[in-house]
Parts: sequence; structure tokens; C-alpha cells
Amino acid sequence: MEYLGEIIALGVDGIIFGICLKQYYHCKNALTAVKGAEFYDVGTDLGKILDNTSGQKLDYVAIRGIVKPLGEPLYSVKNKDLAGVVQKLSVKEHVVARTTTGFWSDQERTIQEVYNNVPFVLRHGSYKVEVMDALAAEILDMDTISDHFEPSVPTFTDHLWGFFTGVRQRGLQSTEEMLRDGAIITGIGELSKTVARSGGIRLQPPLNGTPYYLTSMSVTSLLRKLDDRKKTYWWLCVMFGGIGLLISGIVVRRYWKDREEERLAKELRESLAASRKERRQRVRDKDLREDQICVVCRSNPKEIILLPCGHVCLCEDCAEGIITQCPVCRTTISQKNPAYFI
Ligand SMILES: [Zn+2]
Ligand SMILES: [Zn+2]
Repeated sequence: MEYLGEIIALGVDGIIFGICLKQYYHCKNALTAVKGAEFYDVGTDLGKILDNTSGQKLDYVAIRGIVKPLGEPLYSVKNKDLAGVVQKLSVKEHVVARTTTGFWSDQERTIQEVYNNVPFVLRHGSYKVEVMDALAAEILDMDTISDHFEPSVPTFTDHLWGFFTGVRQRGLQSTEEMLRDGAIITGIGELSKTVARSGGIRLQPPLNGTPYYLTSMSVTSLLRKLDDRKKTYWWLCVMFGGIGLLISGIVVRRYWKDREEERLAKELRESLAASRKERRQRVRDKDLREDQICVVCRSNPKEIILLPCGHVCLCEDCAEGIITQCPVCRTTISQKNPAYFI
């Protein structure tokens, strides 16, 4: 295909542009939603507020309180004194890999990622709100408890192996993160009364797909972060949109140039043919016998021999239009050559 390179580039650019645009609208909608969310402290009587709403439900609110486990907390693997409610353990492999350009670059791969969680509430004084489905949160801020890098000691064989395969081990990084008991966080989501425990209140991911947040940031900081993200995606959209337009422009220009060249070549061919025809007209013998005249136009002399039948029956002008069969014997024409009478 003629424009394959440009089309592939345009396709890749289009996909990246689409992803950025989707993220931009996601941030924009999240920003509007968070701005519109009412803020409550867990310390206020949320039960009474919910009783006054229809369906005992608030679609999107922000609440702030202290994290407390409902039962037995989780304990850190590295430091047994630290307790929490959500724990993330991950192991990453760090390698140096040879890229297609021939350079070596640092890369990391997640080998294992484990989440543990126990039921917990956001608490303030005697008031509490149960937090459901914490792992579904789009932002779930956790403290890093430990981050350990274990470098690998390569042997001579490893070096040799690495040279041929293009991948050299650097080491393993194990990280432990935790949402700790006693942390103060802002939860943004849907607030409703629990059916199981009378009087209990719970915070859960909104059913309409609005993002769910459990963050150590205040609402103002979260808004700023979302706004920054929105701006970044906007600029990325502008950049990839611009690249897309540029590639389209190049394609259109190339297409137009090719068409123009084709048109000029055709014009040249036509004018050459016309001048040849005109020249033939001038040198033709006007005084011809009946058997010397072209069988088609009945005016020009016979000038072309048709092969394989060998009939000399056409002038050069008429021979241009007859390509399949000899007009005299109906034999399929394989070749046409000028015929000279001396
Ligand atoms: Zn003719
Ligand atoms: Zn023939």
C-alpha cells in the first residue's frame, strides 16, 4: 500500500489521542463531581441527615475521619508493631534490558502483588461510618512501611547469558504499603444506611460510576491534583491532536502532488499522440486506390499489419482503437506492427 507508513502512524497517534481524551473527560467529570460533593465531618450526626433524605442515601459526599479496624487489624510483615486495615505487598524485578536501538535501559516488572484488607470504619468520637470495598477506590493512599532492594550478585555465567539474551538481572524490590490504623483520611463516595445493623452508616463506591476516593489529602488538595491531571491530559490531547493533523496534512499533500503529476503526464501523452496524428495526416498520400484504403475509416492509407493473421487492413489512427480482433478475419490480435510498402 502506498501510504502504509503514514496510516500506521496516524492509527497509533489516534489511539493515544483517544486514550488522552478519555482521561481528560474522566478528570473533568471527576472534578465537577468532587466540587459538587457536600463535605461532612464524621463527628456530625450523619444518621439524622440521612433520615431527612429520600431513600436514606446521599449520592456523593466527602467525609473525613480516623481509620479504625472493626475487628482484629492487620499487622505489618516488617514491623509487627504497626497495625492497619489495608495492606499491599509487592515484589518487583529490576532488569537492565537491551532495547531494539541497541542501548541498555532500566526496566521493572511486577512479579507479585498481594492485597489484604479487613473491615474498617472512619471514626470521630462516638460517630463512625463503615467503609466498604476499599480496594475499588480510584485513589487509595497508603503509607510505605518498607521498601527494600536486594541486588543480585551475577556470576560469570549470568554475565554471559545476559550478553546473549539481552536481559541482565539487577535485583528484587519488595515493598509493603499500608493504610494504617489511626490515619486521618477523606472518603468520597455514596453514603447510605446499612441494612444489616440498624443505625449503621456506610460509605461505598457510587453506583453511577463516579470515582470513589480514599485519600489522605483534603478535598482542596484532591481538587488541585485532579485539576493538574486534567491540564496534563489537555496538553497531551493538544500535542497528539497536532501530530495527527500534521500527518494528515502530509498525506493530503502527497496525494495531491501524486494526482497532479499523473494529470501532467497524461496531458503530455495526449498532446504527443495528437501531434503524431497531425503529422501523419500531413504526409499521407491523398491519391489512393480502393484496395489501399483502411477498411474502417475509408479515407487513410493502410499502415498497420496485424499478427498472427497478417492482414494489412487498418490505418494507424483506427488501429489504436482496435485491440482484440482483426476486423477482416476475427483472429485474436497478438501484435500490431507498422507495414511498409516499397
Ligand atoms: Zn482508418
Ligand atoms: Zn486478419
